[in-house]
Amino acid sequence: MGNEYKGTKFRTNLKEAVIESPLAAELKYWSAVLARNNCAPAIPGGYGGNLSCREGNSFLITASGANLANLGNDQIVRVVNFDLNRLEVDAEGWCLPSSETLLHGAVYKARPEIKAVFHGHYPAFEENFMRLGLKITARAAEYGSIDLVKDVLEILGDESIVLLRKHGFISLGETADEAGNNILDMCRAR
Ligand SMILES: [Zn+2]
Repeated sequence: MGNEYKGTKFRTNLKEAVIESPLAAELKYWSAVLARNNCAPAIPGGYGGNLSCREGNSFLITASGANLANLGNDQIVRVVNFDLNRLEVDAEGWCLPSSETLLHGAVYKARPEIKAVFHGHYPAFEENFMRLGLKITARAAEYGSIDLVKDVLEILGDESIVLLRKHGFISLGETADEAGNNILDMCRAR
């Protein structure tokens, strides 16, 4: 996998809108916590990591290329629809949604009980995945690709954290706190 960030790999139909939601505060809080715990490192062209929370039939997600250490209100985007076949996303806000938007959307579709999906980069998880009891995707798929979505869905089951080979992790929760605390627990256990 190339480790350089070159933007999203889908087309976004963006409607300009101010995003107001109580979930925005949760996204900002947990973005800062992940950054503080070295889960959102700078990478060439951007930063690793993106977070989302389900909001009814939509979800809020951090913007493409956002620095989680300092997430502004305008870097939270609402995804109202997505199409995995056409590689298209309908969104509201001021920025393009995260490059992993299709992955977040596919996870929400596969797991109706899940309300938060947090993605970060933390190599120590992969180094210790057997001891930590974590599932890991079979291939090192490119970031933001449909292959990555497919590989994750293959191992997702009812796991709360899965690893993306040579890339990072996603953590799932029925609340934002659950998704975030899963990660902090794993950081302590690694
Ligand atoms: Zn990533």
